[in-house]
Amino acid sequence: EGGDSTEEKDTLVMATNAEFPPYEYYEGQDIVGIDVDIANAIADELGMELKIEDMAFDSIIAAVTSGKADFGAAGMTVDPDREKEVNFTDTYAEATQVIIVNEDSTIAGPDDLVGKKIGVQLGTTGDMYVSDIEDATVERYNKGFEAVQALTQDKIDAVVIDGEPAKKFVESAEGTKILDEAYTQEEYAIVVAKDNEELLEQINGAIADLKESGKLDEIVAKYITS
Ligand code: GLN
Repeated sequence: EGGDSTEEKDTLVMATNAEFPPYEYYEGQDIVGIDVDIANAIADELGMELKIEDMAFDSIIAAVTSGKADFGAAGMTVDPDREKEVNFTDTYAEATQVIIVNEDSTIAGPDDLVGKKIGVQLGTTGDMYVSDIEDATVERYNKGFEAVQALTQDKIDAVVIDGEPAKKFVESAEGTKILDEAYTQEEYAIVVAKDNEELLEQINGAIADLKESGKLDEIVAKYITS
């Protein structure tokens, strides 16, 4: 882990939004999490130094297409609209979108979201799905946890967000729960600029190695105990 290197290495810049535990979040001054460990393993394989740029989730794709970042790793769901702008690497995690409600809520599943006030994190797949729900009002927050806080204050009726961060958020928001029925199944992958086929292949190679060696499972197990 870390240490000052006297040797000059090329840097590999990762764009992320460090508000998404256990994939990326702050521990003191440091950004840690599953994506950070994966990105460090990729950088190691490429003999490069990882540099993390924390930004709003909905700025990540623009950072990658503009070359401000080399890749984006942010629990990002593979999505055909995003695929028009960036390339996705091979997937590295299965994920879900879940519904968080207050414990006394009458909302019991996705069908009950019609006409409700629903909180999401701006620009996420949760935002995209909920925007299609009939008569629903969508409240968009910069941070997922802000949506959950609004729920505890009865400003909204439900939150639709990724399953793993949902677990963390519910732990620290008393009186909230995750509904058993997930909203959708998804898969996470890293995003790379369309014109950077070389990096796409290098990252795919590194992901394949991480899967094969069992290192990926090890990283996940470090952050997710199920
Ligand atoms: N998986 C969701 C998406 O891709 C949310 C990711 C995030 O908030 N970091 O839109």
